[in-house]
Amino acid sequence: MCARSPDIIERSGLAQSHLAAIVDASDDAIIGHTLTGAIVGWNAGAERIYGYPSGAVIGRSIGLLVPPGVPDLMPDVLREVQQGRGLLRYNTIHATRDGARIDVSITVSPVRDPSGKVIGAATVAHNLTQHRAVERALQETENKYRTIFEHAREGIFYATSDGETVAANPALVRLLGYDSAEDFMSDPGHLLGSWMTDQAHELRTRLVGEGRVHDLEMEGCRKDGSKIWVSATVVEMRESFGSPITYQGTLLDISEQKGSEASLRRETDEADRANRAKTEFLSRLSHELRTPLTSILGFAQLLQMGRLNPVQQTESVDNILKAGRHLLRLINESVDIAGIEGGRMAFSLEPVRIGDVVKDAMDLIGPAAQQRGIEIRVFPAHADCYLTADRQRLVQVFLNLLSNAVKYNCEHGSITLSCGESEDKGKLTVLVADTGPGIAPELRDRIFTPFERLGAEQSSVEGTGLGLALSQQLVQAMGGTIVLESELGAGSTFSVPLPIVDGPAVQMEEMNSCGLAPDHAGPTYPPCTVLYIEDNLANLEVMELVLAYRPGVKLISAMQGRLGFELAKEHHPDLVLLDMRLADISGRQVLGRLQSDPATVDIPVVILSAEGLPGDIASLLKAGARAYLTKPFQMDVILELMEELLGSPSTD
Ligand code: ADP
Repeated sequence: MCARSPDIIERSGLAQSHLAAIVDASDDAIIGHTLTGAIVGWNAGAERIYGYPSGAVIGRSIGLLVPPGVPDLMPDVLREVQQGRGLLRYNTIHATRDGARIDVSITVSPVRDPSGKVIGAATVAHNLTQHRAVERALQETENKYRTIFEHAREGIFYATSDGETVAANPALVRLLGYDSAEDFMSDPGHLLGSWMTDQAHELRTRLVGEGRVHDLEMEGCRKDGSKIWVSATVVEMRESFGSPITYQGTLLDISEQKGSEASLRRETDEADRANRAKTEFLSRLSHELRTPLTSILGFAQLLQMGRLNPVQQTESVDNILKAGRHLLRLINESVDIAGIEGGRMAFSLEPVRIGDVVKDAMDLIGPAAQQRGIEIRVFPAHADCYLTADRQRLVQVFLNLLSNAVKYNCEHGSITLSCGESEDKGKLTVLVADTGPGIAPELRDRIFTPFERLGAEQSSVEGTGLGLALSQQLVQAMGGTIVLESELGAGSTFSVPLPIVDGPAVQMEEMNSCGLAPDHAGPTYPPCTVLYIEDNLANLEVMELVLAYRPGVKLISAMQGRLGFELAKEHHPDLVLLDMRLADISGRQVLGRLQSDPATVDIPVVILSAEGLPGDIASLLKAGARAYLTKPFQMDVILELMEELLGSPSTD
């Protein structure tokens, strides 16, 4: 027998007390039981977790903690413990005294007697319920954030402080033009790396200084190099003190908004510029109007006073007339400029033969050139070329250029009018060159500005300073731009490029190639007369060719409205084809006259016009027109209409 010393006995008692204190203080349930599962020990932790006081469980089976439907693993575990296995761990579900189920982590260890024989077991149950609840809550939150991350419209990223992206959502990958997240991550310049803009620099500086950046607008590039504008929000993140910094951010594509902002800015700038130009124009106009008006009023007052001798009276009247004519020119040209700018000037863009326009302008300028002894040489090449233009307005442009070439030429100088292929494909350029003093390079920019006379106002040459401004706007409205080339002392050349269009012969060829051809051996039509009131020769030619497809029609034509009306009264045609824009009175006025005269009221009138505005069409039909056809002509439509109005061919 081995007797223990009192010291040893005392120390072992102390250790027992310590152990008992630890067991009692533990938050876990510590349960002592036999190898058959009968409970022999039940600490305070077990009372708290399961709700049973120790008196209620001592002697009962530990299996009482296993709720129905949950497999009881303890018997097998105890068998293994008995066979000498050390610690055994498993997770299961237990029930408390009031029936609540709890997740527990179980550790079973053998209890041995002093000889080392396993005589029982100690089970420690750790309550996992709270832990599991936290885990579940975390999982739910993770799922929620993942859904946002995957489906957000903004690009979202997480990055390390050295710019390495650790996560990028699909929106970000799309936004920056990559195929997949892998494709994105594998590109070294993917995230702002290649954005060497000032804004990217600002983003980095502010992140270092303030730890966050909100809605910073940045311009950069997608993978393919195309430009993109984004609004960036980035915040610095630090899990805990001392842990490395990471960045979390969103990028929103604002390219469209930036684009509309830029176009709005451009429109506003353009509107401001137009407003300033209009104000300037009006103030210059009122100034320019005052000069001739002052002259008119001054000389009129002198005449009224009745003290002028007959020579002075004649001079005063001449001055009044001269100022009056100047005033009229100023007003007419200003009204034209305002009309173009306000979109109120009607243009009838039709094929016009350049030879005809040049001839009209030459007829009008001839006398003035002759008076100054200036020769005008016209090179006839391209005279048969057709341009898309408003004939009257184009004559006005060439008249202005020729009149300047006469006015600002030297005595007995010369003018050359020629045509040449334009650098612009599909355009023909008409050139007006003079042998005048030329225009200094520093003045050339201002030559098309309204009221700019570039010093000519000091000379005796009359002018308003509006002619070139107006001509430029007219040519621009017809699809071209006047260009000036000049050499001091050698003269100036104004070139006018305008779009070329097919002439009547080509148009007819095209119509023929569509399967239509004059069939002289075909059916016979009732004989009839058609009056075509049109000031455009090219259109008259086309109509003549069209009518070849309807034998028996006699075509008469008039290039002015008044003459057209007279011819209608005289010949009483079976049909009147009427253009809208005529040199003397408008087509609408001609229609009014035809409709209100008993001699012509029954003649059907068909309008042929290049304009075709819905409001005009309706009002002309209301005013008595039978039909409204828009130019360019559609031959089959015209022939169909003739059949309707003039009768079908006889079948015999
Ligand atoms: P206006 O002839 O009524 O003064 P324009 O607008 O036609 O006005 O021309 C503006 C100015 O450009 C003229 O006053 C003149 O100084 C200058 N200019 C125009 N055409 C020529 C030209 N062929 N040669 C030299 N100067 C010209």
